[in-house]
Amino acid sequence: MTLPIQTGTNNPILRKKAKEVKKITPEIKRLILDMTETMGKAPGIGLAAPQVGRLLRLIAAKPNHKIIVLINPQIKKFSRKKEIMEEGCLSLPNQSYLPIERAYKIKVKGLNAEGKKIKIKANGLLARIIQHEIDHLDGILIVDRL
Ligand code: ZN
Repeated sequence: MTLPIQTGTNNPILRKKAKEVKKITPEIKRLILDMTETMGKAPGIGLAAPQVGRLLRLIAAKPNHKIIVLINPQIKKFSRKKEIMEEGCLSLPNQSYLPIERAYKIKVKGLNAEGKKIKIKANGLLARIIQHEIDHLDGILIVDRL
């Protein structure tokens, strides 16, 4: 089921800090499916739970054909090397793309959709998507990163 996407820089849901997922319940699994479907339909390459109105630390990224789901993601390491790229956001449909500086490489840990602990080394586009989506979990939007 596709879910409505929360929009606007002053939308309170997009400005709050999301809560940790304590347990992978059937409801969480349903939310993951709905989020990936919503991301596909939008279409987008990343989505965070607050963008569909759920204040939970849960993100999805689709840098290519493969979807990566991360629950309670935590970035453990940022590379010194930074990169500026144009970014858009599904929650800011009227905002043109903005040049945003982010770490080129990151190491991130969290849980996958099955609740298994995972560590990911990401660079380039995937690293960028993960940083953008984790920002959503902390109420941060690209307009704050200029
Ligand atoms: Zn976004």
